[in-house]
Amino acid sequence: MISVEEARAYILRYFKPLETEYVSPDEALDRILSEDIVAPLAVPPHDNSAMDGYAVRAQDIAGASAQNPIRLNVVADLAAGYMSDVAVTTGAAIRIMTGAPLPPGADTVVRFEETSEAVSQKATGKGNPFVEILSAPKRGDNVRRAGEDVRAGEIILPKGSKLRPPEIGLLASVGCARVPVHRQPRVAILATGDELAEVDEPLAPGKIRSSNEYANAAAVIKAGGIPIRLGIARDNLEDLTRKIRAGIDAGADLFITSAGVSVGDYDIVKDVLNREGAMHFWQVNMKPGKPLAFGLIGAMPLLGLPGNPVSAIISFETFARPAILTMLGRTKFARPYVTAMLQDRAENNAGRRNYIRVHVARNDAGEYIATTTGEQGSGILTSLSRANGLLEMPPDVLAYKPGERVKITMLDYPEEN
Ligand code: AMP
Ligand code: MG
Repeated sequence: MISVEEARAYILRYFKPLETEYVSPDEALDRILSEDIVAPLAVPPHDNSAMDGYAVRAQDIAGASAQNPIRLNVVADLAAGYMSDVAVTTGAAIRIMTGAPLPPGADTVVRFEETSEAVSQKATGKGNPFVEILSAPKRGDNVRRAGEDVRAGEIILPKGSKLRPPEIGLLASVGCARVPVHRQPRVAILATGDELAEVDEPLAPGKIRSSNEYANAAAVIKAGGIPIRLGIARDNLEDLTRKIRAGIDAGADLFITSAGVSVGDYDIVKDVLNREGAMHFWQVNMKPGKPLAFGLIGAMPLLGLPGNPVSAIISFETFARPAILTMLGRTKFARPYVTAMLQDRAENNAGRRNYIRVHVARNDAGEYIATTTGEQGSGILTSLSRANGLLEMPPDVLAYKPGERVKITMLDYPEEN
């Protein structure tokens, strides 16, 4: 049996970041930059007011206070979006709104609250020919300097950055209308099995619903890929061959099958994959999820996940998600983890890497507490549904006792309130 690490390292050698495509900032959320982004201009592009107030010359109002108001002539009103065609000369002020470019001659802004405008809105305000200044801010106060956020020519976001809302805003702020990102991988999803029925089909005796294709498609989307649904292939050579060829024709970057890679009589996925491509079949030293296939059909990598629903999802998490993230341009794929106090006993009798499903919550003292989610069979999908984390038990660790501090890989990091 090969280890999880060996299998993953082997698989990831076949993946690299996909080519660049250009998308609008509206389409760029959660994508990965494929090039450095250099700012063609400064942000802000001009010195501007950080407050609603009066643009003045600091030297004119030195010593101003409520007891010693200094009167200035108001020579203009300036709104955001407009350049002033008047300068601030000695003894003058321009009434200025937040974001308006600082007029020539001015070096400081006095907030309305520190002028006569605060004292009597009616007596002063827009159109008033003079204003009294009631404080003496330092030169440059309430002025935002050109380039204080971004300097022209600066790399604002390096290649490899994940684009969250702040990065999307940053891209827009420098006028990046075509954002270079790695193309999203297209992932073909095929379920196999004579026993499977789609979610909306009548359920004949002896049949079960196919859940893997739905869970896998959702996991592809969550990882940042685009699922291509190929439905169910029956356990016969013709149907399986046809559906696998359909996936190739669909131009998938990765093909994911579920079931049929074990040692049963009708596990013919192995035969078909061997005939159509060059495949490895492994027993990976993990529980759940021992059987796994990986190989190439033509140039397309194919990952054959086990059929049991919990095995399928944990194998996807362990092997398919890193492959998808790699194609998206990500170089790290370990989930965040917490150290939690284990509430109940966790056992590992199989000598394999055991993925125990746990729910992590914080107690009143603010400590993370991990509780196993019950029956841990590979067909018990509810055990994963109740979980938000995985406790990985290495092959040589036989048990964790209640009260032990353990590392939990967080699958979800939900809001606490
Ligand atoms: P197999 O690897 O084909 O022997 O399948 C292992 C187990 O997974 C069997 O109990 C199958 O019925 C079940 N299984 C296979 N495919 C699916 C699927 N798409 N959805 C839910 N269960 C499945
Ligand atoms: Mg089967």
